[in-house]
Amino acid sequence: MIDFGKYFLPGPTEVRPELLRAMDRPVIGHRGPEMEALMERIQPRLRRLFRTDRPVYVSTSSATGLMEAAIRNCAPERVLSLVCGAFSERFHKIAVTCGRQAERLDVEPGDSNEPGPLIEALEGGGFDAVTVVHSETSTGVLNPIAEIAGAVRQASPDTLVLVDCVTSIAAAPVETREWGLDFALTGSQKGMALPPGLAFGAASQRAYDRSREIPGRGLYFSFDAFEAATSKNQTPNTPASSLIFALDVQLERIEAEGLEARWARHREMAERTWRWVDEMRDRHGVELEVLAAEGRRSPSVTCVKVPEGLSGVEITRRMGQRGFTIAAGYGKLRESTFRIGHMGDHTLDELEALLENLTGVITGKR
Ligand SMILES: *Cc1c(COP(=O)(O)O)cnc(C)c1O
Repeated sequence: MIDFGKYFLPGPTEVRPELLRAMDRPVIGHRGPEMEALMERIQPRLRRLFRTDRPVYVSTSSATGLMEAAIRNCAPERVLSLVCGAFSERFHKIAVTCGRQAERLDVEPGDSNEPGPLIEALEGGGFDAVTVVHSETSTGVLNPIAEIAGAVRQASPDTLVLVDCVTSIAAAPVETREWGLDFALTGSQKGMALPPGLAFGAASQRAYDRSREIPGRGLYFSFDAFEAATSKNQTPNTPASSLIFALDVQLERIEAEGLEARWARHREMAERTWRWVDEMRDRHGVELEVLAAEGRRSPSVTCVKVPEGLSGVEITRRMGQRGFTIAAGYGKLRESTFRIGHMGDHTLDELEALLENLTGVITGKR
């Protein structure tokens, strides 16, 4: 029996035993009728999850693969990257390493990207695409994507908006069509609470049309290949079929819970975590702080700043001794913060047990 409920890493997140069991069956050929039936069943559910009527591509890669796909298919020359932490910086680095003329607009860790400075930066014109991360997992910041996409649309209508929704899809409201996102992507191992190894992305019609004009966009990640395969209920190449068995079961579970209810559960877990931070200050005199500002906090991951004398790494280690997994800070924030991934299939009760143990670790009581 797997003891679910103690693994709160902000990715990969904990996977329910029934999803692991769904993979325990023979591999099937990916060009056969069984796989086609599976893909046909999965596709409408993925579209409902992404809130789009465009095809959702199923990629056997981690999410970074589809970040690279976004650049290669949507931005032949100039890219502007909004950077607010490690993953948004990765998007910029991908543009640089693909040889694009890449510019970046940075804010301090813990701050959000906002439309104002972006509009100014777009005024020079000529950007093929803007990259942005919705929920920045390294800092727990939730960027205002609807506003950002709207601002790009207004300031530079031809610029595509490429959005990393890795810790937002299936955890926070993402309205791919309504917000006019030109490419939205996620990975299997975060909000969707599946094992790592799959990534999903939806391109707008205009992003897809434009991709077909771009030379040198490669093969494995070309939108063309995904689009052609998806229309035949296939994948371009051999997929991680075992993971697709788990995906089938998980999409059904997500719909049984209800997407809005899933968002609300994440919101409740996040709010409980923020309240706990206040309680640590008010009741225990420990000056913890949520790194992200109110109104810009991710519902799936909270980054907690610790006062001088406490170490994020040490707190994470002691939680490990109690059987709970959380994460130390990311990069430069490694010692001064720790992160709780309250995402995926976790419940408020499981989170409560985690916070009780964290209180014990931090106050030095049992
Ligand atoms: C985890 C994560 C990624 C990278 O995902 P991989 O699956 O490791 O490639 C990208 N962006 C965000 C916001 C993430 O949390």
